[in-house]
This record gives sequence, structure tokens and C-alpha cells, in this order.
Amino acid sequence: MPGFELFGEQEKKEVQDVLDSGVLMRYGFDGMRQGHWKAKELESALTQRMQSKYAHMVSSGTAALTVALASAGIGAGDEVIVPTFTFVASFEAVLALGAIPVLVDIDATLTLDPLAVENAITKNTKVVMPVHMCGSMADLDALKSICDKHGLLLLEDACQAIGGSYNGKPLGSYGDLGCFSFDYVKTITCGEGGAIITNNESYYSNADHYSDHGHDHVGNDRGAEAHPFLGYNYRISELNAATGLAQIRRLDEFLDIQERNYSIIRKALEPIDNITFRTVPNGGVENYSFLSFFLPDGERAKLAQNALKEAGLDGCFYWYDNNWHYYRKWEHLIHKKSLGNLPQDVKNQLPDYSQSDFSKSDYWISRNISCLIKLSWSEEEVHQRATKMADVLRNL
Ligand SMILES: *Cc1c(COP(=O)(O)O)cnc(C)c1O
Repeated sequence: MPGFELFGEQEKKEVQDVLDSGVLMRYGFDGMRQGHWKAKELESALTQRMQSKYAHMVSSGTAALTVALASAGIGAGDEVIVPTFTFVASFEAVLALGAIPVLVDIDATLTLDPLAVENAITKNTKVVMPVHMCGSMADLDALKSICDKHGLLLLEDACQAIGGSYNGKPLGSYGDLGCFSFDYVKTITCGEGGAIITNNESYYSNADHYSDHGHDHVGNDRGAEAHPFLGYNYRISELNAATGLAQIRRLDEFLDIQERNYSIIRKALEPIDNITFRTVPNGGVENYSFLSFFLPDGERAKLAQNALKEAGLDGCFYWYDNNWHYYRKWEHLIHKKSLGNLPQDVKNQLPDYSQSDFSKSDYWISRNISCLIKLSWSEEEVHQRATKMADVLRNL
């Protein structure tokens, strides 16, 4: 990743179709659109590739999470379990609905620790949201049986893991709902965009209405549509959908390149004593967008990141110090700061994260480095990179 590395003729053709018709909106204007329905076609391509009954496109991955939660009736006072290692979008989506993000430890999978999840369940818990960070997944069987036991919804944030699988099922299709992001730096990009997949018809139809001001989408006259409930505007534009349509057709091509590049680098690092790799649960297949590994302690992980940078090896991240992906730097959440006041109930119910003990997450993340696997590298470049990386890490 990212998919923009390999933009080509197909992306241009799909976008040109939309410009030629002049219809940039995904709904209506049937007479003008010359048969182009890019968002609909992308949804249909997603249902097939993701082995899911329904797919609904929205304007971003964050919107997908928000709409997915709303579609299942999640709202004020409901608790949603999210990992300490994720992207800020996870808790943004939850808070946007007046629900409560409950942060929970991760384990060697770099995703939700099932034991910590079970310990965090209260009478208000409604959803468990594993986030398949950096291309690999949580132990979904374990999480599913916890959800079944407690009557909770399993919502997969597969924004960073499109194309990976678990027990033969595409990531995102295992839970009750799955979300993808197609922002500019993801494996498949629309520029901006996101998708919700589900097998549940009412979640799908709720998502479809909620993301378009509550319009019920019955009949051909938008002005005459009914509004069974409140909604907002999370629509994707046809221009963005057109880009994604070209890209989704190339998903398997992209995954093959990622797997090749990942395997070459991994093979070079495997003999190094001080390095262990992220755990991939049994039955899981990564999408190979990142190679994540652990150093023996935080100090050496930091040293490693600096040494890799100095050697000109870009794209290796030390998430422990990262503002976007790890709870330690989420000052706004920790101090409950918003524009205007958060609802008092939310403030009261939101855990005091300045006092939380996430030493288990710290243990894993402080020792972790994740290196981005690019699509545009030539095979020769990857081999050079692999040798260089191994040299740097061996000589720490
Ligand atoms: C990118 C991302 C999102 C949000 O996607 P946007 O399209 O940027 O809003 C959500 N979760 C994870 C894990 C992501 O990486």
C-alpha cells in the first residue's frame, strides 16, 4: 500500500465516465447519467469480493464506523470496546453517537486481547470493535464466542486490512458488521471513501438511509421521500467511487505484490536473534501491507527505528510515540476536551484515561516496529532494502 502508487488507465477511465456525464452524485439524475452508477457498481463488486450480502459506500472510513454503529442502533450510553492501539477514528465514531469508547489492552497480535475484552464488559457494553491494525487480525473466534456469550455485536474495523482473511473468510465479513476505509493512503483508495459490509438486511437499509439524511430511497422523486428517522450526510461522490471501482478490481494484483515484497523482507529478518514477529492468529492470512516485529525492549526498538531512518529506510513506524495510533498521545480523549461541552452523561461515563493502566499494551507497542510495504518497489529494490534492513537490525 497505498493504492495510489499504481494509478493508471483504469482509474482515469472510470473517473472520465463520471465527468463525461456530469453527474457527480450517487443518487438520482437517472436521465442524465448515461448509465453510470459508480457507487452502486463498487458496492456490488464489494459484496462479491467480500462474500457479503450487502455493501454500502460512504464518504470515509470514519463515516463507515459511525454509520455502522448507528445502523445497529448504538447510541447514548452504550459502551463500545476498542483497542488502545488503533486510529483516532475508532473513538471519534463512537463519541459522535454519544456512545462511550472503552479502551482495552492489546496482545502480541497487536489487536484486542480477548481476556481484556471479557474483563471490560459491563451491563452497558453493546459492541466489541476489533481493529485489524497494519494488515493482520484479532483472534476473531475468541472474540466471537465472547460476543455470543454476552449478546454483543462484533464490528470489525478492517480499514487497514482489506484483502486479509480469517478461516477462509475475508476480513470484515466475519463480524455482524465490517468497515473499510478507502482514504488516500489505504491499500485501495477512492481519494476519500469508506464502506460498510453486512449480511443483515436491516443494518444495511438503516445505513443506506442514515448516511443520506434519513431519506428512505423509495421511488424516483427525492423530494417526495419519507424520513423514518434522523440521518446525516455521509454520502460518497461518484468521482470518488469511480476511482475505487477501478482500484477494487486490482485488489488481488496489489495483494500479490504486497505478499511478494513482505516475504522477501521477512525472510531476510528471520535469522536475526533479537527479532520476533507479530502473532497472526491460527487461520489468519494477512494482507501484507505492513511487516511488524518486536525488539527485546523499548530502548532497542527506539534505537532500531532511528538506525533504520538514518540508513534511509523510510516507512518504519514506532507507534509507541505516535499521535494518531496509540492512546498515550490522545490528549484530547484523555482530558475529555471537545469544542463546546461533551454531554455531561458522556463526561461522567467516559473512563478516566489519565489513570488507566495499559501496561500490557505498553509492553507490546513499546517493543514494536511496523514497516510499510510499498507496491511501487521493484523486486530488486526490495532485495536491496531487505539486506540493508537486516544489516541495520543485526548490528544494533
Ligand atoms: C484509516 C482508518 C480509519 C478511518 O478512515 P478514514 O477513511 O481516514 O476516515 C479507521 N480505522 C482505521 C484502523 C484506519 O486505519
